[in-house]
Amino acid sequence: MKPAPFEYRDPRTVDEVIDVLAEHGEDSKILAGGQSLVPLLNFRLAQPAMLVDINRVEELSFLRCSAGVLTIGATCRQATLEQSIFAQARWPLLGEAVDLVAHSQIRNRGTVGGSAAHADPAAELPVALSCLDARFNIRSASGTRTVGADEFFSTHLTTVIEPDELLVSIEVDPPPAGAGYAFCEYSRRHGDFALGGAAVQLADGEVRIALLGASDTPLRATEAEQALAGQQIDAETAAEAGELAVREVEPTGDIHGSGEYRRRLTATMVKRALLLAADRDGREAA
Ligand code: FAD
Repeated sequence: MKPAPFEYRDPRTVDEVIDVLAEHGEDSKILAGGQSLVPLLNFRLAQPAMLVDINRVEELSFLRCSAGVLTIGATCRQATLEQSIFAQARWPLLGEAVDLVAHSQIRNRGTVGGSAAHADPAAELPVALSCLDARFNIRSASGTRTVGADEFFSTHLTTVIEPDELLVSIEVDPPPAGAGYAFCEYSRRHGDFALGGAAVQLADGEVRIALLGASDTPLRATEAEQALAGQQIDAETAAEAGELAVREVEPTGDIHGSGEYRRRLTATMVKRALLLAADRDGREAA
């Protein structure tokens, strides 16, 4: 299949993008890396009247650390995050997550902002960003608003971004030094979307657990987080937390696995991620 006809714009500044979206937002789609959107266009599952290509907007293409906070510009490539020595050293959970995204050819084009905006519950970066309580800066003609990860992902493939809005950047606070972390997932083949997974961060008695592929959105396992807070993490408590985490979810089955299989897989991934994070807790990232 080939896409339905569309008009094409390639603005050079954020202001120009916002102007186009203010006029054509409802009928337009933003094109970032194209790794999710182009297949949707080719299958005619998306038929926007206009594509707004943001690849030439230089001010969106950055990755920087300022006052300890990591700020990821919307068109920062996934490969840039993967190859960033400072991001890998200071935000190793993000590094572990991005290494698991697809294949290098896709990470070379795919953007961090595009992955977040696409909001696939089986995507690694939204889950890691949810675990890290990331903030999303969104701009429109009315101004800029900042939304926390707990609000940003609304449902399957949907975020709070309105048609006239642009995701401009994502901010992530620094994890406490030596925080334990782990991103564990299971996929049938290397580079495939995972069938289930979990991201964990442990620091100063606080436990964060985010689930991949268990719900319509990346999901924080709040009951399990609270039960484990301040507890010693060992095989028994990690297994109990896995069971608690899946009490909160009802994953849907598909050709790759039944709902019950995915629940069991999620419990196992939570246990595995907790034990790995506990093993790393107190150690500086390699
Ligand atoms: P695009 O495809 O350009 O856009 C995606 C959506 O986000 C569109 O609706 C677009 O309008 C919107 N959008 C993009 N940027 C913005 C913005 N700044 N503001 C508002 N809206 C915006 N991903 C994984 O996480 N794990 C995988 O294992 C995985 N496997 C893949 C395997 C294959 C074969 C392919 C083709 C893709 C795979 N992906 C996987 C998806 C990949 O990570 C995509 O790069 C990502 O989902 C979308 O990023 P993008 O920059 O390509 O966005």
